[in-house]
Amino acid sequence: MMANKEIPYKIYLEESEMPKYWYNLRADMVNKPAPLLDPKTHKPMTAEDLAPVFCDELVKQELDDTTAYFAIPQEILDFYKMYRPAPLVRAYCLEKKLQTPAKIYYKYEGGNTSGSHKLNSAIAQAYYAKKQGLKGVTTETGAGQWGTALAMACAYLDLDCKVYMVKVSYEQKPFRREVMRTYGASVTPSPSMETEVGKKILAEHPGTTGSLGCAISEAVEKATSLPGYRYVLGSVLNQVMLHQSVIGLEAKAAMDKYGVKPDIIIGCAGGGSNLGGLIAPFMGEKIKGNADYRFIAVEPATCPSFTRGKYAYDYCDTGMVCPLSKMYTLGSGFIPAGTHSGGLRYHGMNSTLSQLYDDGLMEAVSVPQTEVFKAAEEFARVEGILPAPESSHAIKVAIDEALKCKETGEEKTILFGLTGTGYFDMMAYEKFHDGKMVDYVPTEEELQKGFSYLPKMD
Ligand SMILES: *Cc1c(COP(=O)(O)O)cnc(C)c1O
Repeated sequence: MMANKEIPYKIYLEESEMPKYWYNLRADMVNKPAPLLDPKTHKPMTAEDLAPVFCDELVKQELDDTTAYFAIPQEILDFYKMYRPAPLVRAYCLEKKLQTPAKIYYKYEGGNTSGSHKLNSAIAQAYYAKKQGLKGVTTETGAGQWGTALAMACAYLDLDCKVYMVKVSYEQKPFRREVMRTYGASVTPSPSMETEVGKKILAEHPGTTGSLGCAISEAVEKATSLPGYRYVLGSVLNQVMLHQSVIGLEAKAAMDKYGVKPDIIIGCAGGGSNLGGLIAPFMGEKIKGNADYRFIAVEPATCPSFTRGKYAYDYCDTGMVCPLSKMYTLGSGFIPAGTHSGGLRYHGMNSTLSQLYDDGLMEAVSVPQTEVFKAAEEFARVEGILPAPESSHAIKVAIDEALKCKETGEEKTILFGLTGTGYFDMMAYEKFHDGKMVDYVPTEEELQKGFSYLPKMD
């Protein structure tokens, strides 16, 4: 370790220092996450069961909880070179503004055209689909970040990309939609008349503006009924967390290079992929007893899967066609009130993170959105980057922790994940600026209603 070396404003890795492997944290966990179950028989899903829905190589990664390192294929490394390494930034300006003795770092994943970390997994998933000789992939998108990332990756590999976009977003976020179409994806508002499940939902709820769970059901049906297509998902699954480990591996390599060790690592949690990826190598050390860190997951108060959810097997989609996953969940029928962080609206959570949280290895907090936007603005004004509302959940808690250090005089080192930019979220910023944004916390009754959708096990 090099002591007292001047820390640059931005730490970039040399090409030779970039990670060549993804790290599979599950391999080092004592208590492994529970297996995916068949939604009908409740038996563990096998590779054969999953093959009609997902690409073969991705199924292997999903089911593997013993292999610690997966070599990143050269083609994916080449694509990563277009926008990685992502900078690790020392937030000197924010520290000064807060007058805190804490040292704040953030890993910035918004520097690619799709504007978020989702491209790290999109290129991997598109690559394995192409390698399998498939014609294309289907997916859903809510706020649009995942659809955008996947459209970019598919364009690069000349793969067809069909996106089911939650109808309300399709109508309210025309810019995202057009970015996807620019990259050659077809975008269908969901629910649609293109699928049986879409027709059924429209018959039962005419005029519905759709939901993520419903769009997932449509995308899965399309993938399994069209020859040469598979379904891909941008969060929640363990394969996604595996690909996102590139965030944590780069961050750790950059910090190690300057002899810096974080005390607290913070990330926003929607389905858990960026947080899981960021903490993976650090959590691996903690589990092996080689180092200690505090990990904090930050979620919106409107959709508090960790802090108020149940640890149980649940459906991943409203159509109940996807495998059951054991996770912290609010129930697949839980509809979060209008939060402006579309990427954090998912009812469940990645199964690996759920197990770590249940084992007490990680903490979680939930925060109301007006405080999140206040933190976003404070950050933008000193650090320059205009953050995504999702990412700003992590900013909010990083600031809180830095202010605690100010009170106690402790010089803690804080690392947080800045997952993306907020240029497509200016309507939300507008509401905040006009004082029209409200905070909403679900009542116990609303949560109980969500839990009533949980499948009965045994
Ligand atoms: C999708 C998204 C998230 C949340 O997804 P995770 O799987 O929890 O990482 C966070 N930030 C941004 C910018 C996103 O697009």
